[in-house]
Amino acid sequence: MKPIVILFGISILFGVYAAQSKANIGNTVITKWQGDKKSAISITFDDGIINQLTVAKPILDKLGLPATFFIITGKVQGAAPGKFIGRPEQEIIDETARVKTNEENFFERGSLIGFTGTTEALDYHSRAGSLFEAGKKEEAYQLLDEGYAKLRKGNLRNTDEIVFHNNPVDTTTWQQYKQYALQGHEIASHTVTHPRLAILDEPNLLYELEQSKADIEKYLGKEYTFSAECPYGTEDERVMAYAHTIYPALRNRMPESYLEEINRSSKANPETSQKEYVQWQRGPVNSVGMAEMKGWVDTCLAHDNMWLVLVFHGVNGIGWEPRTDTELEQYFDYMHDRVSDIWIATFGDVTKYIHERKNSKIKETMEGDTIAVTVSSDLDATTYDVPMTLKTYVPSTWKTAFLHKKWESDQELRLEIYNEAAGSYTLYPYRLGEGELVLTEFGVK
Ligand SMILES: [Zn+2]
Repeated sequence: MKPIVILFGISILFGVYAAQSKANIGNTVITKWQGDKKSAISITFDDGIINQLTVAKPILDKLGLPATFFIITGKVQGAAPGKFIGRPEQEIIDETARVKTNEENFFERGSLIGFTGTTEALDYHSRAGSLFEAGKKEEAYQLLDEGYAKLRKGNLRNTDEIVFHNNPVDTTTWQQYKQYALQGHEIASHTVTHPRLAILDEPNLLYELEQSKADIEKYLGKEYTFSAECPYGTEDERVMAYAHTIYPALRNRMPESYLEEINRSSKANPETSQKEYVQWQRGPVNSVGMAEMKGWVDTCLAHDNMWLVLVFHGVNGIGWEPRTDTELEQYFDYMHDRVSDIWIATFGDVTKYIHERKNSKIKETMEGDTIAVTVSSDLDATTYDVPMTLKTYVPSTWKTAFLHKKWESDQELRLEIYNEAAGSYTLYPYRLGEGELVLTEFGVK
């Protein structure tokens, strides 16, 4: 048989080959999800809240489930704190008495007010950001004028209410995060101070994104600088343009033509999507019952293109919309019971897998009963290090298969043979950057 070269788009071609089982032999595809599972789930937690780590994480650890924690680095001792970058603060504050807030000065004022020292000022920052992102620019300008007028008179107060990103009892150390990462969890960026990025000027916006990344790299390592979530689920165009140049993966938005993204607030039905992948984000806030949460998992399992991304916040009374440990345990158990069909992996790992699969080319050659497979990709193998699952059709007479890794001359892996209408096949892992793979019925060793 002549070598079959299958390029990008293999899953579309696959149908053609499937019709002829014999011609199928040697045909190799990258399965849609790792382990040839039916779908994927990523469990994510925002804001680096202490109970996520001391209450939710042990439940996950007991079940062997990894999660992604988007942390606010400025809260962690040793990291660079939040700060305002720009002209002298008093100069800006004095100017607010003479010049009303407008398009020209809005971002500078929006950046500064949160750092003027009170929780009420921080609240003005958040509310102005919320109005701005809702398209209510004039109202956002007026709100800042009101806030700065109070500031000039010394009338802004500290409220007793503890805000989730400034909670004195809510502390975690880099040593703890390092340990959590080594347990298989993803620690990722949620900026330095959790601001409304859409109303920051360029230096302050860049500081929030870059300094958070720099501290994570310094304390945990470069591998944890892959994913980020910009606060408040923002999709502001200007913010996204900056953030996409700094982080390879944003939970906020993933602009891939082959992927449909359904955000937390969207009521769109993921089951009607025709895209190859659907990233379906759901937020299990307090008003969502257990039956609905379990239903998301069931919906995911009923299709082959679905990646459920769960967005948790508070746990046991600390943080926004907290869920209890009992609820979490029940929910994670439900997922764990279905783990043979669902690939549960961190946000970063699923993103990498999809990118690897969509950006790799496979070449197979057959000589006698030996199938040789090579994979090539332009992706950086040190970043894109999640093992892909390759599926190769083998002669129906094979009772077993051996995988011989040419770059590890003494390694041989015995593989299972599975059967489906299109023929017999085997599954095996492959990491980008590895060399040629050889499959034979019997080991050569
Ligand atoms: Zn947040």
